[in-house]
Amino acid sequence: MSTPRVPEKHGPAGDSARGRAFAIGLRNRFRGITVREGLLVRGPAGWGEFSPFAEYGPREASRWWAACREAAHQGWPEPLRERVPVNVTVPAVDPERAAAIVAAGGCATAKVKVAEKGQDPSEDIARVEAVRSTLGPSGRVRVDANGAWDVDTAVRMVRELDRFDLEYVEQPCASLAELGAVRRRVDVPVAADESIRRAEDPLRVRAAEAADIVVLKVQPLGGVRAALRVAEACGLPVVVSSAVESSVGLAAGVALAAALPELPYACGLATMQMLTADVTADPLLPVDGSLPVRPVEVEEDALSAVEIDASSWRERARAAAEAETL
Ligand SMILES: [Mg+2]
Repeated sequence: MSTPRVPEKHGPAGDSARGRAFAIGLRNRFRGITVREGLLVRGPAGWGEFSPFAEYGPREASRWWAACREAAHQGWPEPLRERVPVNVTVPAVDPERAAAIVAAGGCATAKVKVAEKGQDPSEDIARVEAVRSTLGPSGRVRVDANGAWDVDTAVRMVRELDRFDLEYVEQPCASLAELGAVRRRVDVPVAADESIRRAEDPLRVRAAEAADIVVLKVQPLGGVRAALRVAEACGLPVVVSSAVESSVGLAAGVALAAALPELPYACGLATMQMLTADVTADPLLPVDGSLPVRPVEVEEDALSAVEIDASSWRERARAAAEAETL
């Protein structure tokens, strides 16, 4: 018996031709961009998001595409928890503003950006101090230098900032060798974020003894299942973070956090507030410091309000799909 030929537009390979593209403004510049764009695909299992950053070519974007297809066609593994604790993020703002952001965030954990270009170390200290005093002694405070310090500066600043009791320091320096050097000289745990961009990176982090914690994102790793395999192989505690997606992409991060056997740290998934709009009427926003584990349905009205011509995004998805099968 011959198998009926399925028209391509109905199969996974046809997803790229059916996706709908969005462009949503960012409240503040992030990674040099002010608008977040991507493609949304509806499959039998739900909605998937494909939103690699503009500088990624087809090979790199192929993992983002795999994550989108997983969401649309396969869905995610059974969750082990119903809610995922998240952190509020404090940009490199003055102490008063930092305190206000933490108070409004309703989270027990705050991530404070430090080492901002053009700022003095005293500004980092004042900001972290304000965050600690707003959260109180039971709150958790982590700092993120986005790789900007050299080793000596990192060691000095981490020791200085640890009087406010740091949970961990995220990417204090750029390279693995530097992360390892900092880690050997401070008592505060070190987390690797920018050092991890593909599946093999967490294993390199582990082998180099460069970090105590790994920050994982679903799309660059090729999906929730792929990220779970990476987490297991790496063996270090995981903090799930977003790539500043719409609620559709965020739901994949929540699914990963919900499926991890251990989740000792709050996740970096409270990023919907960074966007000026969403593709659903019921965005994944934190309530009492956590996100619910649930599917996200795209709302026609919400999507049409941010919809853009999809042709270039469909082309990117097609190229990514092709690179995936190479
Ligand atoms: Mg980071």
